[in-house]
Formats: sequence, structure tokens, C-alpha cells
Amino acid sequence: MDFNIYSPVEEIHHPLFAEKHISVFMKRDDMIHPFISGNKWRKLKYLLEAAKTQGKDHLVTFGGAWSNHLLATACAAAKSGFKRTAFVRGENVSNPLLSLSRMFGMELRFVDRESYRDKQKLFAENYGNDLRAFFIDEGGASDEAAKGCAELIDELEEEYSHIFCASGTGTTAAGILNGITNHRLQTQLHTVPVLKNASFIEEEIGKYLLRPAKFILHLDYHFGGYAKTNPELLSFMQAFSSSTGILLDPVYTGKLVYAVFDLVKKDAFKSGDKILIIHSGGLVGLLGKI
Ligand SMILES: *Cc1c(COP(=O)(O)O)cnc(C)c1O
Repeated sequence: MDFNIYSPVEEIHHPLFAEKHISVFMKRDDMIHPFISGNKWRKLKYLLEAAKTQGKDHLVTFGGAWSNHLLATACAAAKSGFKRTAFVRGENVSNPLLSLSRMFGMELRFVDRESYRDKQKLFAENYGNDLRAFFIDEGGASDEAAKGCAELIDELEEEYSHIFCASGTGTTAAGILNGITNHRLQTQLHTVPVLKNASFIEEEIGKYLLRPAKFILHLDYHFGGYAKTNPELLSFMQAFSSSTGILLDPVYTGKLVYAVFDLVKKDAFKSGDKILIIHSGGLVGLLGKI
């Protein structure tokens, strides 16, 4: 893969932010690559390096039918010369994410929810004797992924009062937090889990932290659960895209940006605060959802 990336920081102008005297910026990780999108690019960077170093030639990974990680892995594997297989949770369905993953030469193996639960077992049963197969967990969750995400902080030219990111597994949030700690910044990290009842994410994030660090979880912006939406969220996303020229996805970044606007309205920030929102990509997930 080419490790030179383009992820500019853009200011988001809105009358609400002017009224509250805060400034809001967005780190455009969605511009890194159309398919190896956003945080998935950062998460795969050191995983692919580890696979190469260990002499592996076949990436085996896992995800739900709407997983951005599957598409990212399919495309990254195609660019780097790995074979690529994914176990997909649930019955055989088709959607744009899966079609594009196949287009990038990924073999999709649909497995029932029960068998999907034990990923290590699935891997061992199917590829246990294949020394060149490399296990990548669901969503790419790993220490390597957290290390890649920490680099986002190295790229910042200014210090922000608050950074906001969306969470699925929490690996990205942990990586960003490690970056904040490494640079000894005063920045407060906030994360918006997109799953219902996601307080478990606190422990998940803890697994990947290099040193203990504080962060704020916003548990009330899941809109009913993973990949669930409602008309309010969709009309918010449309209004945001219409006024900024920036698309959001309904699974992660739509909920994330909604949360920031809602918290600004509720005066959660001080006058003069600078907020950075991480646009973690995932826009292919829009197709077939709107
Ligand atoms: C996968 C994904 C996330 C969640 O990342 P985690 O590291 O699993 O928390 C956030 N945003 C987008 C767009 C994603 O595709």
C-alpha cells in the first residue's frame, strides 16, 4: 500500500457554532481512500505489515454483511497481493458492500450466527493447517490497528479542546487516545458508540490503551442500535451534507455528527472551545440505505 495519505482538516461552519462561540473542525479520513476508507486504512496498515513479515499470503477476516472492514480488507489485499477470504455473519445476502468486496476478489463464506461467534474456532477449523493464512479479527480489532489509529494525532497541526470519534469495537478510540497520551495533549476524547447498550466498550477500549487514560462515552446516540436509523437522523444527515458538501454514513459518522450538534445545543462546551470530529469514512454503506 502507499503510505502517503491525504486527510485534511476542514472547518465546519454553522450558525449554531457561531452563536455558541465554539469552532468545529473535521479530519477528513474519509478522503484517504474510497474503499480502504477512513479508520479502516489506519487499522489495516500494521496488520498487513505483520502479515508480510510473518510470511503470510492469505488474509482471513470476519464481518457482518454491512461491514466496511470487509470491503477495506478486500481492496487492501488486492493492492498488496494477498489472497483474501471473509466469513460473513448470517444468511447469504447481497448488497453493494459485498458486491464490491467480491469485485476485489474476496471469497465470501456465509456462516450462521452461532458458528460466527467463535472466530478463532472458525479459523482453526478451516485454516488451522495453512501456515500462510493470517487471522484478522472482526473490524480489524488488534494492537496493530490501535497503533495505526494513534498516528492520526501525529498529523494534527493544532491542539483541540475535544476530539470526537464513532466507536464500533472501540479500537479506533483507543488508538486516538494513545496518540493524545503520547503527545501529552490536554485534549479530551469523546466517543459515540453506535451500538445499543454499549457500556462494554469502556473495557474494550481499555484493552488497547498503552497507559490508562480518561475519555467520555456518549451512550445515547445509537438510534436504536447498530445500523438502525430513523427519519430524524436521515434528515439531519441530509441537512448537514446540503450545507457542507460532506457526506456522512448512516451507521457511524451520521450518529457521531448528530451527537456533536446535540451536545453543542445543550451547552456541553465552553465558549472558545475547539472541537475536532473524526470522519472515519464508510460512505459505501450509504448505498442501498438511502
Ligand atoms: C469501522 C468503523 C468505525 C468503528 O471503528 P472501531 O475501531 O471498530 O471502533 C467507525 N466509523 C466508520 C466509518 C467505520 O467504518
